[in-house]
Amino acid sequence: METKTAADLKLANWIGGRLVPTTGSSPVRCFNPANGELLNEYSDATESDVAAAVANAENAYKSTWNEWTPGQRSDALFTLAALVDGCKQELAAIETLSTGKPLASEVLAAEMPLIVDQLRFFASSARDNQGLRSGEYTTGKTSIYRREPLGVVALITPWNYPLMMAAWKIGAALAAGCSAVIKPAPTTPFTTLRLAQLCVDAGIPPGVVNVVIGTGGPGRLLVKDERIRGGSFTGSTRTGAEIMRNAADRICRVHLELGGKAAAIVMPSADLEKAASSLAFGAVVNSGQDCVALTRLYVHRDVFDQFAELLTQKTAEFVVGDPMDSTSALGPLVSDEHRHQVQQALEGAVRRGARIHYQQRIDRTNAAGYYFPPTIVTGLQNTDELARREVFGPVLMLADFADESEALTLANGTEYGLAASVWTRDVGQAMRITRRLEAGTVWVNDYLTFVAEYPHGGVKQSGFGSDLSRDALREFTVAKHVVIAHD
Ligand code: NAD
Repeated sequence: METKTAADLKLANWIGGRLVPTTGSSPVRCFNPANGELLNEYSDATESDVAAAVANAENAYKSTWNEWTPGQRSDALFTLAALVDGCKQELAAIETLSTGKPLASEVLAAEMPLIVDQLRFFASSARDNQGLRSGEYTTGKTSIYRREPLGVVALITPWNYPLMMAAWKIGAALAAGCSAVIKPAPTTPFTTLRLAQLCVDAGIPPGVVNVVIGTGGPGRLLVKDERIRGGSFTGSTRTGAEIMRNAADRICRVHLELGGKAAAIVMPSADLEKAASSLAFGAVVNSGQDCVALTRLYVHRDVFDQFAELLTQKTAEFVVGDPMDSTSALGPLVSDEHRHQVQQALEGAVRRGARIHYQQRIDRTNAAGYYFPPTIVTGLQNTDELARREVFGPVLMLADFADESEALTLANGTEYGLAASVWTRDVGQAMRITRRLEAGTVWVNDYLTFVAEYPHGGVKQSGFGSDLSRDALREFTVAKHVVIAHD
């Protein structure tokens, strides 16, 4: 199937390997964040749509996917990775239209190579997931340890990385031997639907991957469906808590990748130039709409002024503009409503005494788009709402500290625990701080590096469980102990 733009792609559920119009009547609209134009609209999926998707997933699991050998599943996933690679221009263009991410610098240069690599990683791990071991732990009996797929799983994703989140979850679930129903975010279903089509093109049996489109309603129905044996969710902490409550009612396993409020600590011995450059980008990546985007930057008093100046210079260099323009480093925020929320969060902090240390001027020719300028804020207490709440825009809080202990107290002073970073040339100090930072990922003299082989996950209210790595496959499998008596 040739698909060129989001507007060309029909929005419907993807069930049993074909597009099936939703039976709902509540409209959902998708806009281009770069200019506010309507891209497409559809009706929210209903209970019968969700039920049909789950039935197809269950049937495909039992009749094909669970019967295939790990090698067969691996081959199909390698083919999928190759197809995604071959369609990367098309997929990237669709992603940019619906999310506003810069096409060249972000989606094509940064995201697509990672997505293809991650799918290849899952393809290879599909052959080595059983963890089979056996032995005689009781005289006259052999014990066998098997890891088996959960069965049909629900995958629920957010709008900030629609294709990447779909690839992480579909890749791991299928490698583990599960079939899936995925529910993308309401305004960004396009690339997820295209990925599901590519799954069938790759030889993955129809019904192994199904998509229901819509708001939280179909997501809620999926979590409550008795046939769903596990759920993997990426999104806000508030929604994650509701999913956990609904899953608890029927003792269904969930994996939750939730919000973040990442902190960085800069020590006097750090390479300040390198730190400013890396952290300035960390704060504005995907216009700050990234769960690991840098939101709180703590700098040692001795180098604060020097560092603040470097950071401001680096931040001023980012071009905010049309995501289709190859010079743009930042595109718009995802929606007008979200832009309004970011603006309100900033104004609230200013009313409570924060100072705007730096804010870029935005080119007014883009007035119809949902653009927001990179902003650095000082004069905030760690207890202020802006320091505690996820803002999800390019707004960075900058503050100083006196010593290592205070830096750690400030960095850990949040309900979240997704990512953190420390900058120092003192190896001992780096290890001391790394050990004490409460976060699922800690970068030392670095920011934003992800590898497919290592897990991504959080602690505290950032959730639990892992995306990426072999750990991600464990989210979709369960242990079985088989005992064989010798006579
Ligand atoms: P969200 O929680 O509003 O929605 C996420 C998904 O859940 C959407 O598909 C939504 O329709 C669905 N949903 C809503 N209510 C539901 C319910 N009751 N039951 C089931 N599904 C429901 O999040 P968002 O605004 O789309 O995404 C931004 C959030 O995602 C931020 O908080 C960000 O930090 C987080 N995020 C986390 C990670 C991570 O790896 N930890 C990665 C990306 C984004």
